[in-house]
Amino acid sequence: MFGNNDFILVITPSLAMLVLALLLLIAWLIQRSQRFLLWQACAYSLAALPLGLQSLLPLDELNRYALLIGGFYLLGAWCLAKSWAERWRVSTQPHITLFIAIATLAALYYFSRIEPSAWARVSSFSFGSGLILVLPILETRFQKTLFDWLDKSLLWLSIVFTAYTFTRPVLIWLLGYSDLRSLPSSSYWLLTLMSILGFSLLFTVVMSAIAVQDTVRKLKDERDHDPLTKILNRRSFQERAQKHLVDLRLYPMAVLACDIDHFKRINDTWGHERGDQVLQLVSAILQSNLRQHDLVARFGGEEFVILLAGITLRDAELIAQRIQCGLRSQNTVLPAGSKLTMSFGISPIIKSCQLEHALKEADQLLYQAKNAGRDRVHVSGVTYPDIFIESTPSEATA
Ligand code: GH3
Ligand code: MG
Ligand code: MG
Repeated sequence: MFGNNDFILVITPSLAMLVLALLLLIAWLIQRSQRFLLWQACAYSLAALPLGLQSLLPLDELNRYALLIGGFYLLGAWCLAKSWAERWRVSTQPHITLFIAIATLAALYYFSRIEPSAWARVSSFSFGSGLILVLPILETRFQKTLFDWLDKSLLWLSIVFTAYTFTRPVLIWLLGYSDLRSLPSSSYWLLTLMSILGFSLLFTVVMSAIAVQDTVRKLKDERDHDPLTKILNRRSFQERAQKHLVDLRLYPMAVLACDIDHFKRINDTWGHERGDQVLQLVSAILQSNLRQHDLVARFGGEEFVILLAGITLRDAELIAQRIQCGLRSQNTVLPAGSKLTMSFGISPIIKSCQLEHALKEADQLLYQAKNAGRDRVHVSGVTYPDIFIESTPSEATA
């Protein structure tokens, strides 16, 4: 039925899809958290086999394998839906999907064994797989604000592909191929193969771009954050603080150097693991007392640094005292009756060149607070120029 060239032409999309599946599989093996790559690889592998069969087998033979081919395609459609759903963190509605798949297979059985009709088979299959694909797309209506431009591209590509899946029987009808016997060797079928291959390539490009973007984000995140407490590390604190320093709306600022009191004793008494839990608790309490433009970082061991934006020294002192109250009332890590306290040194920043000086002064004040008995807040003796006296934290960060 096919010449050598025709054979190569119709089998190429199947082979190409297997190659794409292999590439996606390799990408998933490298970055296993990106499971959408694996689901997409499954979708391509499952579609490649029936696509090849449909291209090669005459209609009478196809009739015999209709259920098998339909089953492979439906499973492929579900894997594709699962890949999108995995990426968008939505459900594929597995129960509804199962119902649609069974109904579609029943229709394929009816139109292949009881009342054979290739047209009805194509229509019921297109409708069934279109429905499976549309389910995760509908679920995204609650998610749109989380999408960046790459996820939006994936969403639009998915919508176009689903619309194409639904309208395929109409296209066959419009193009006048009512005699489906001629379909496998028709230009319509070649067009179909090419469009499926085109969509597969586009999906692969978009999914790969998303995977690369995710990996870069993850690496940046690991570079910028302390692995134990998940707050900024010293390096990224310096980087972000420099950005704050050039924003005149954020002045005056205050630097708080804070250190857990007798932390070594906590480690020695209750073990290093409990010590780690204390560090996580302290980080959470520090974060819960900050506002949008404030920064908090773990500078090392049990030392933290906070940069408060748009704040007077007096209000910075109040925040330090609020943190001290939080440590007393929210200490769920250490046994009842054991004290968890911190000492603070606070220094102001009213000019962009003062960060290093403020860090040094806050550290010295912290040292004084430790020497004065711990669980104390020592504030720099600098008085603010009048311009900053009126400025409240909420006004300054608004
Ligand atoms: P002070 O009140 O003067 O600050 O005394 P301190 O015991 O808190 O300070 P010191 O510097 O003597 O001890 C800090 C301890 O913190 C020593 C170190 O083993 C411990 N430490 C540093 N990093 C970690 C960590 O990631 N996890 C745990 N559990 N302990 C840590
Ligand atoms: Mg300490
Ligand atoms: Mg220390």
